[in-house]
Amino acid sequence: MKPPDFDYVAPTSVDGAIKALGSDSEAKVLAGGQSLIPLLAFRLAGPSLLVDLARVDGLDHITDQGDRLVIGAMTRQRRVERDPLVANRCPLLAESLRHVGHPQIRSQGTIGGSVAHADPAAELPGVVLALGGRVHVTGPAGDRTIESEELFQGFLSTSIADGEILTAVEVPASGPRTGWSVVEVARRPGDYALCGALCQLQLDDAGAVMGVHLGLIGVGDRPMRAHAVEAAVLAGANPADAAELAPDGLSPSSDVHASSDYRLHLATVTSRRALTQALERAA
Ligand SMILES: Cc1cc2nc3c(=O)[nH]c(=O)nc-3n(C[C@H](O)[C@H](O)[C@H](O)COP(=O)(O)OP(=O)(O)OC[C@H]3O[C@@H](n4cnc5c(N)ncnc54)[C@H](O)[C@@H]3O)c2cc1C
Repeated sequence: MKPPDFDYVAPTSVDGAIKALGSDSEAKVLAGGQSLIPLLAFRLAGPSLLVDLARVDGLDHITDQGDRLVIGAMTRQRRVERDPLVANRCPLLAESLRHVGHPQIRSQGTIGGSVAHADPAAELPGVVLALGGRVHVTGPAGDRTIESEELFQGFLSTSIADGEILTAVEVPASGPRTGWSVVEVARRPGDYALCGALCQLQLDDAGAVMGVHLGLIGVGDRPMRAHAVEAAVLAGANPADAAELAPDGLSPSSDVHASSDYRLHLATVTSRRALTQALERAA
């Protein structure tokens, strides 16, 4: 299929992009195009104007802010995956990127595009939610920050308003004795996960778990945080017992790829494996 007709602009500043977006109620932001262009080709989206962020100044950076990493929205996924600072300070993010599609897709796809697209099976929204990250957005009314708990509203839906642009993604930097793990089940390497668990935890000096973050993808209309599992781990449960709580509050739908029951089973299995590996890495 060929995309429907659309106009195209490539502003060089965030202000210019906001103005262009505001000029047309059917305008859409174009980042790496790895989700939007297929949607256009299948005519599942039909914007009258594409506002390409590729030339906008200041959106491609990885900044160390001490206890946080701030990553510009247009930073390509492949750059984030290979960046030594990210590998050191947020290894969960680095590892999760290796599960995103294929290298060619990651060379074009951006971190901001993936988070704004909010696919419930996508790794980057899952990591941002699991770690309690946030996003920075700019719009006609100015700048604001959205916490990850408020960001993901449903299937491909976020609280970023029409006319706003996501400018940066912020994640906490990990401390000492941190372990992490990404465990997914997908039909083929590079496919979106049927279910995935994204885990980061930290041990105290005595070797007890002092903090745990567990995100689940592919098991709902948005990425989910496994609060019940986290609470059990903090209370001293072992990975196998804690992971039994992973299906709590989940009601994934069945589709041609997997039944709801199978996805719930995978939530337990991937959680157990991710917790186990994260504990081994932290020790
Ligand atoms: C074959 C294939 C396999 C894939 N497999 C995976 C996978 O396993 N896991 C995974 O997570 N992803 C996967 N992807 C998707 C890929 O990660 C995309 O790069 C990502 O979903 C979107 O990022 P993008 O930069 O390409 O955004 P685009 O496609 O350009 O935009 C996506 C959406 O986000 C909006 N948007 C983009 N940037 C902004 C911004 N800064 N502010 C506001 N709105 C914005 C756009 O308007 C659009 O609605 C796959 C893609 C393909 C083609």
